[in-house]
Amino acid sequence: MNILVVLENNTGTLHRLSLEAIVGSQKLGESVSVLLIGEGAEGIINQLKNYDLEKIITVKHELLASYNADGYSETVKQVALSISPNVITAGHTYQTRDYMPRVSAKLGAPFIPDVIAANGNGYTKQILNAKLNAEISTSSELFILSFQSATFSEDDLRPGSCEVESFHVELDSNIVRSVTEDPFQEEQGDVDLESADVLISVGRGIEKEENVPLAFELARKMGAEVSASRPIVDSGWIETFRQVGSSGSNVAPKLYFSLGISGAIQHVVGMKGSKKIMAINKDSDAPIFEIADYAIIGDVLEIVPKLIEALEQN
Ligand code: FAD
Repeated sequence: MNILVVLENNTGTLHRLSLEAIVGSQKLGESVSVLLIGEGAEGIINQLKNYDLEKIITVKHELLASYNADGYSETVKQVALSISPNVITAGHTYQTRDYMPRVSAKLGAPFIPDVIAANGNGYTKQILNAKLNAEISTSSELFILSFQSATFSEDDLRPGSCEVESFHVELDSNIVRSVTEDPFQEEQGDVDLESADVLISVGRGIEKEENVPLAFELARKMGAEVSASRPIVDSGWIETFRQVGSSGSNVAPKLYFSLGISGAIQHVVGMKGSKKIMAINKDSDAPIFEIADYAIIGDVLEIVPKLIEALEQN
């Protein structure tokens, strides 16, 4: 199976889900090429050139200087028609959701989005707010997959070598009719959640705003940063830039320690790539325990003060 992975180039930085999509594609196919669109590709080429890839295909064009769905979908179509892959893959990012349906329509290729597992010719995706898993297969000679966050681990990238090749794309302003404005910037804090090694994450189990400083105290003792679920941010108890999840940050720390978070899918997609997950929740059936490495069943408001006390004694 020949696979073309479409990478997400965020002005010279490769999206984490693109690396995961390469791993998934290496597991599925014999030959994997990657497509890198836009400026600032050199750093990404250096990052990828020691992996087992057939080709890194680069495309530059003035109409692709910034992301736009018309230009990106047309470029993927032209590259796919030129190299004839069996499957086109990508990470399931906001950008993928925006332009990949157009690629699907242009190529007449079915798109199976948000895949969490691949078994032979079947692909699993969650439906009905992750209450059910659906198995989807296709007999199409060309189809498109996008992988949900943390379906594969970038630690499993297969080393090797690859060639770099540039592709000339035919684009004009009749094709690229839309202009995308600068990406929306969340309120910026001096905290970089995505590079924190340890996150203490606060959920509704903290019960009231007056209890939030407990999480900050524990974080100080553990050399950690504080993050939160959306209801905590929506209540104004913690700043917006600390939100983790589908409408917040995507994080992958060495340790994610959740305090009273239930484990709703919109939260989990933003943190399930964490290396270790530890969770306190008083409900032993809370969904967070399905992905936790360490489960502490109990009351956050009893356990956290004791942890702080124990850390003070060391
Ligand atoms: P709850 O689901 O209310 O869970 C609280 C948990 O705390 C429960 O499991 C309870 O057993 C436990 N608990 C209660 N008291 C204690 C105690 N004293 N000690 C220990 N445990 C206790 N959510 C996000 O987090 N991030 C997002 O980016 C996000 N985006 C969304 C986007 C959309 C379009 C939608 C519809 C929803 C989104 N959500 C997001 C909301 C998401 O669906 C959940 O509602 C949210 O994650 C729940 O937050 P929570 O776990 O803190 O609260």
